[in-house]
Amino acid sequence: MAEQSSRRTFFKKTGATAATGMAASATNHIPPLKTANTTKTNSICPYCAVGCSVTIHTIGDKARNVKPAIVHIEGDPESPVNRGTLCPKGASLEEFVQSDRRLTKVRYRAAGSSDWREMSWAEAIPMMAARIKASRDKGFIEKDEQGRTVNRLHNMAMIGGCTDTNEINYLISKFRFSLGLLAYENQSRL
Ligand code: SF4
Repeated sequence: MAEQSSRRTFFKKTGATAATGMAASATNHIPPLKTANTTKTNSICPYCAVGCSVTIHTIGDKARNVKPAIVHIEGDPESPVNRGTLCPKGASLEEFVQSDRRLTKVRYRAAGSSDWREMSWAEAIPMMAARIKASRDKGFIEKDEQGRTVNRLHNMAMIGGCTDTNEINYLISKFRFSLGLLAYENQSRL
């Protein structure tokens, strides 16, 4: 009995040690999640009016010499809209953000020209501001024929794209209403 007992104890002990060893060795081979130690930023998928929430994972500690990089984008499980899910378009957001075909510089085609040229923001912003101001001064209608205040602008229009973010669309709305601009087209529901 004493022998049986000691054999049982031996097998129990060695079995437990082996199991612990296997677990430890399996743990050693699990690579860290790519979202470990990332900065999480919440945003809204820009593609359609469903407005699914996404979490953007970024590495980089925001020090001056560190360039932050997006390593992962996923559905936000806290969102009552999508509860962590994304459709195939939303699930491809990371590829869109990282794409080397994405335009990141201003491109300008002068009236009558067939050529595009790159332009710096320092040149583009004053040019746009001056042209918007000139068009608004020319076309702004304060009162209609019956003397009613309308504060509207018919000689300009704006278009937006499917990849404008929720935040950009908010600012665009503020901007165009401040001009009195009515003609605006965007697939988000503004
Ligand atoms: S994930 Fe799909 S359904 Fe959700 S907002 Fe983006 S495009 Fe629309």
